[in-house]
Amino acid sequence: MKKIVIVGGGAGGLELATQLGKKLGKSGKAKITLVDKNTNHLWKPLLHEIATGTLNDELDHVNYLAHAQHNYFSFKQGQLLNIDRENKTIQLNDVVDSQNQIIFPKTDISYDLLVMAIGSTSNDFGTPGVKEHCTFLDDQNSAKQFRKSILSTFFRFSSGIEKKEKLNISIVGAGATGVELTTELFSMVKTLGSYGFDKLEPSLLNITLIEAANRILPALPEDASKNIQLKLEEFGATVLTNTKIVKADENHFYPEGQDPIPADIMMWTAGVKAPDFLKDIAGLETNRANQLVVKPTLQTSRDDAIFAIGDCACSAKPEGGFTPATAQAAHQMASICAKNLIALVNGNKLSTFAYNNKGTIISLANTAQGVVTTIGKNQMGVKGWMASCIYKMLYRFHQVALFGIFKTYRLIRANKVYRTARTTVNMD
Ligand SMILES: Cc1cc2nc3c(=O)[nH]c(=O)nc-3n(C[C@H](O)[C@H](O)[C@H](O)COP(=O)(O)OP(=O)(O)OC[C@H]3O[C@@H](n4cnc5c(N)ncnc54)[C@H](O)[C@@H]3O)c2cc1C
Repeated sequence: MKKIVIVGGGAGGLELATQLGKKLGKSGKAKITLVDKNTNHLWKPLLHEIATGTLNDELDHVNYLAHAQHNYFSFKQGQLLNIDRENKTIQLNDVVDSQNQIIFPKTDISYDLLVMAIGSTSNDFGTPGVKEHCTFLDDQNSAKQFRKSILSTFFRFSSGIEKKEKLNISIVGAGATGVELTTELFSMVKTLGSYGFDKLEPSLLNITLIEAANRILPALPEDASKNIQLKLEEFGATVLTNTKIVKADENHFYPEGQDPIPADIMMWTAGVKAPDFLKDIAGLETNRANQLVVKPTLQTSRDDAIFAIGDCACSAKPEGGFTPATAQAAHQMASICAKNLIALVNGNKLSTFAYNNKGTIISLANTAQGVVTTIGKNQMGVKGWMASCIYKMLYRFHQVALFGIFKTYRLIRANKVYRTARTTVNMD
């Protein structure tokens, strides 16, 4: 029986494990093992909502062990350290508990086919001071820590302990994460104000969104990016384009050739790279962003037994350029990768991956805007409730891939019921 090991149970990896479990694990044609350093999955595009408390992280978690048991694969907790291609094994680090005691020691797992799906982390592009002084939204822990710290800051302003008139928040990187975080922060303070907390209103926030390019959201057409900038300014944000940050210290960002920008809270959302330890791991080919270079079949360029999908994969598009690091791409790659692994087990021909951009929708707190790709590959602008529905659909597709339609419907209902008994902003 073939041993298929998937490392990383995120947007791509968990969908892949679920599909393979049902199609190969159930019939005993292959043994599927999912490895992740965490015990629970949370869909990463929800992180800014976790950070601002607008989403209940408990209800949107998927426990890997329970999900594996229901979907005919096994789960092993562990952090990947290295790959031994000669002996076809991966090495996992010790798993420690909250007191730093080892609960599972270092171990090796053998594979016939391996899939790397370990995602990405924030890229500070080596900018001095950023690593030390900025907050990154990389995982559930960083999002929760940010929520706790911003809530304390808001409450200090409300109680009068903090005497300043305004709270300066600077966010570097006006891609989807920076833009969505900005509007969620305004929405968060407004909701807290509606609970009766003094001084908590949008005018308390002085949010500066800083972008090196000549416009925000460079992935969107120019008019869509202009409209969204206007919307951000309506919320009360200051948007600085053509502003390249070259240094950060405890309370300032330093733009090239301009005056320092003061900031009480400093966020960095200016791009991603695959984890540093992937650089040339086991002699595999990587690019400058540490991504594993893959062929159109999603097999790595130097080893047909190792596949890579999602943010950690560098996949060239047939028309030029590269597949973007998005959940949409990870979802599409998971489907082709599943098809190819099943084909390998059954001795069939492999398919090739071609990214199909279905559009980009940006959530702007209570509304959304963006573009969808229509027949003929033209892009059509969408706004308001329609855009909000399409934005939510991407997450629903992910849930359907994991749970099927009926269970997803029940989860949506459960979430609605739960919302009636909790504050809109999670204050835990
Ligand atoms: C705030 C935010 C908003 C976003 N919004 C959107 C959006 O609206 N639309 C969109 O398409 N995309 C969005 N994205 C991008 C999207 O989240 C990623 O492109 C997507 O999650 C990538 O999927 P993945 O499977 O490659 O990696 P991930 O989903 O990041 O999963 C990686 C998994 O690997 C595990 N892992 C990492 N290292 C190791 C290791 N060494 N050993 C074992 N396990 C490991 C992690 O625990 C994780 O479970 C957003 C991202 C962020 C941060």
